[in-house]
Amino acid sequence: MEWAEVSFRTSHEAVDAVSALFGETGASGTVIEDPALINDYIHSGLWDYTDIPEQKDTSVVTVKAYFAADDSLDEKLASIRAGLDAIAARGVDTRPAEFLTTRVQDEDWANSWKKYFHTDKVGERVVIQPSWEEYEPQPDEVVLRLDPGAAFGTGTHPTTSMCLRAMEKLVKPGMTVFDVGTGSGVLAIAAAKLGAKTVRAVDYDATAVRVARENIEANGAADIVSTAESDLFSAIPGKAGLVTANLIADLVIRLLPDLDAHLEQGGALLASGIIESRAQEVREAADAAGFFVAEDFEEKEWHAMVIRRRGEA
Ligand code: SAH
Repeated sequence: MEWAEVSFRTSHEAVDAVSALFGETGASGTVIEDPALINDYIHSGLWDYTDIPEQKDTSVVTVKAYFAADDSLDEKLASIRAGLDAIAARGVDTRPAEFLTTRVQDEDWANSWKKYFHTDKVGERVVIQPSWEEYEPQPDEVVLRLDPGAAFGTGTHPTTSMCLRAMEKLVKPGMTVFDVGTGSGVLAIAAAKLGAKTVRAVDYDATAVRVARENIEANGAADIVSTAESDLFSAIPGKAGLVTANLIADLVIRLLPDLDAHLEQGGALLASGIIESRAQEVREAADAAGFFVAEDFEEKEWHAMVIRRRGEA
């Protein structure tokens, strides 16, 4: 089978929107090549591969997606180009915005990225394990089995790993957790494995919901985690002790006015995907909604914040 590899070189800020666009257009797989992340791995010693060179320019991320090179390809490419323009028109800086399409002949592209993903201990307890590796966990570790796929969230992106580390402390046994923008389901699965009793995982993207569902089942978490298509909180009734939302600053700001109605007393929002330049706006929006930023984690140019009601510890 012949495939078209579509690659788009862009900014960190635009990655989520671009990979979501590729997913919506029917990509059979999306790969995010983040040079900053690659350097992290090279320096962490977690990788035993030495054939990956240190990346010099870490400002540009490449998002790649694969499409069957059939009759529908031209139409898909046109809709991707329109979608990329629309992302830029929303004010997202997509530069350098280099778009490239190449044909991949019968190559097993689905396996070529495997060398980039290894079992990774993200926090003190949470371990992400790709399906093609073996791992013998320590008694207190929780293992998430996740492969990179059609939805964002392998756990290695800083916006996700900051959440996973914070969740080790925030998730309490018996808790209800809402995961808004679940992507691959990574945070919802982690919540379940860290002891949550009920987890509601939602995404407005049908592909993400399907992929999340598969990952939840593969991780034996289907009794605890339910899924639904939802624009932010719109399809989630009730309240949770913890809401996780690894989105982008705009969406976190949009979610805040509805937070009070969805948070139990003493509950917290763990918001991530907040780019440095927008962090102050999120703090102000939290304040305006009656909340405050109780903890602020930073990695690269990203922030993750634990947001609580004013007057609550
Ligand atoms: N929770 C995962 C994925 C984060 S990516 C992780 O932490 O790694 C952000 C996800 O939010 C994407 O899957 C995207 O489809 C979803 N999303 C974007 N806008 C949304 C909205 N308005 N309502 C619900 N989900 C949304």
